[in-house]
Amino acid sequence: MDKATGYRIEQCSAWYGQARVLWDIDFHVGPGEVVGVLGRNGAGKTTLLKSIAGVLRKQTGHATLNGRDIGSQSSWQISRAGISLVREGAILPKSLSVAEVIALGARLAGIRGREPVSMATILERFPLLSGLEDRKVALLSGGQRQAVALASGLASRPDMLLLDEPSAGLAPTVAASVFRAISTFAADGVMVVVVEQHEAWLRGLAERTYWIDLGRVAASKTNRSDSEQQGGRNEIAS
Ligand code: ATP
Repeated sequence: MDKATGYRIEQCSAWYGQARVLWDIDFHVGPGEVVGVLGRNGAGKTTLLKSIAGVLRKQTGHATLNGRDIGSQSSWQISRAGISLVREGAILPKSLSVAEVIALGARLAGIRGREPVSMATILERFPLLSGLEDRKVALLSGGQRQAVALASGLASRPDMLLLDEPSAGLAPTVAASVFRAISTFAADGVMVVVVEQHEAWLRGLAERTYWIDLGRVAASKTNRSDSEQQGGRNEIAS
C-alpha cells in the first residue's frame, strides 16, 4: 500500500493496567477499503479499535493516517485528524433525539474543517431512520439505535470509521440493512474497520479480514481472491 494514503499501524501493543492484551499488531486499511476484524470473545478486537482511536492509557505503536504520523497523539487529536470510533448504539444518550445525535457528528465534521453530510443523504443511506428525526433515542429499537450511531459517525465526515459490532443484537434482516449502509461509506472513499462476531456476515462487505487470537493477528484473509495466510504473520501483503 502507498504509505501516503490509507491508515497503517505497526507494532501495536496495549495494556489494561499490568495486563498486556495486544502484542505487536501490524494492521492497515487502504482508501475506501472495508476491513473485517474477527476473533473469539476476549481476543482483543475491541481493544484494537480503542488503540487505533488512541483511547487507552497504555498503548504503543507507530500509526500514520494518509502519510501523517498520528502515533503519539491524544484520542481527541486522532479524532480531529479524521478517525471516528462508533461504539454500540446501546450507549447513545437516551434523552437526545435522532436529529440531535446526528448533529453531534455534524459538529465534529465542522471541527475537522469539513462539510457535514446532509440529513437527506443520511436518510437515503439509513431508510430505517426515515420519519424518526424527532424521536428520542430512548424510544428507538436496537436496530434504529445502531443506525443512529452509524449515521452520526458518517455525519462527522471521517477518513476512517471504526465500527464495534454494528450487528450486535440485530435480527439478520436489520443487520443486512445496516451492512448495506456501511458499504456505501466505503464507496465514498471512507476507510471502514468492522469488528464482527459472525464471519458469514462480513462476506460481501469486507475485502480483507484479520483474525485476532490472544491479542495477536493469528491469520488474515483477502476475501475477494480467497487467498489465505495462516499463523505466525502479523500482517497481510499490501
Ligand atoms: P468480545 O468479542 O467479547 O467483545 P474482544 O475480542 O473485543 O471480545 P476485548 O474487549 O478487546 O476483546 O478484550 C480483550 C481482553 O482484555 C479480555 O481478556 C478482556 O477481559 C480484557 N479487557 C477488556 N477491557 C478491559 C478493561 N477495561 N480492563 C481490564 N481488562 C479488560
